[in-house]
Amino acid sequence: MEASEKTTAVVISCSDPRLADAADAINAQFKKELGVERIIPLHRPGVVGLFSDSSAVHRPSSLDSLASANTTMEDVRRFALEEEIAMHLLFHRPDVLAIVAHHDCLGHPGNDEHQERSAIIAASVLRRRMGRYCFSGRIRSATLEECPNPGWRVKMLD
Ligand SMILES: [Zn+2]
Repeated sequence: MEASEKTTAVVISCSDPRLADAADAINAQFKKELGVERIIPLHRPGVVGLFSDSSAVHRPSSLDSLASANTTMEDVRRFALEEEIAMHLLFHRPDVLAIVAHHDCLGHPGNDEHQERSAIIAASVLRRRMGRYCFSGRIRSATLEECPNPGWRVKMLD
């Protein structure tokens, strides 16, 4: 089967090891919620924080602009992740992207309300920043809530 024959979502979430432990169950939920057959998971520490400030729309988005003197490590991390996403757009043609916050994130601290708000803003910022790539699918936001049983639960936000 060709790579592009399966409906696919790129799901961008935190690299927290608690999420890694539950990866199979979380991916199964995302398949159902996003209506796809395959998940490409990308993990970065506190990843919503790279996109949850609306000023991130205007931060460097090319190698040339990254060379400026006031470039931050977050700018470099954001750009590197976007380049990785772009590679998946080119080779795997996903139908949807999702950016995901989670309960009790150490890399992007804050209560659950803060996590939800951050994920919604992050999806909006990512939509605007990814405008330079040819992607016609949806960019959605979600959080992962920690539940005693069966474990992490996906909550789609938009
Ligand atoms: Zn986290």
